[in-house]
Amino acid sequence: MKVGIISLQGDVEEHREATYRAFDKLDVEGEVIEVKNVDELGSVNGVIIPGGESTSIGRLVSRSLFSALKERIGKGLPVLATCAGLIVLAKKVYDRRVGETKQPLLGVLDVLVERNAFGRQRESFETYIKVPLIGEKPFKAVFIRAPLIRKVWGDVKSIASIKEGIVAVKQNNVLATCFHPELAGDTRFHELLIKTIKV
Ligand code: GLN
Repeated sequence: MKVGIISLQGDVEEHREATYRAFDKLDVEGEVIEVKNVDELGSVNGVIIPGGESTSIGRLVSRSLFSALKERIGKGLPVLATCAGLIVLAKKVYDRRVGETKQPLLGVLDVLVERNAFGRQRESFETYIKVPLIGEKPFKAVFIRAPLIRKVWGDVKSIASIKEGIVAVKQNNVLATCFHPELAGDTRFHELLIKTIKV
């Protein structure tokens, strides 16, 4: 199995380590590669879009990779998208200051996202959340200038919330979080991606 990490900007290394740990846990033989172009994308069975800065990721992704990603995700390529990665997948994005953020979006996930939803007072924080889909044990969610999911439609399922709103969703092959599971020391989200690939 080959998992690709879109490696244009953001926390690629942490995702690589978490994915290898998840392979070990599940006893799956796998490889993780960096994906920067269409050829590399062509060779993977699943993809991770990391956190970072969604506007930078949107700017750095080539037009060809952008359309190839959109097409493959649309056809069922398993994806784990975290924080800025979630923003890039969303259909609609706004922030409180400028309203709709006219940034490039893949538009494959039926959600409305608010960027930087926690403001300055609470830029970064950790909290334990319940995510029944990955098991009973609460998951340590690390939020860094995080977005919030304000609305979902279509066949999107909310899989975790905090009091401010929805923080993780699943839509068929797409798993997306407002927080950073690669920083949790807990590989259950990466394991879920691997299990989705295996099916
Ligand atoms: N604030 C960033 C954005 O809007 C996301 C932050 C992150 O990925 N940790 O793109």
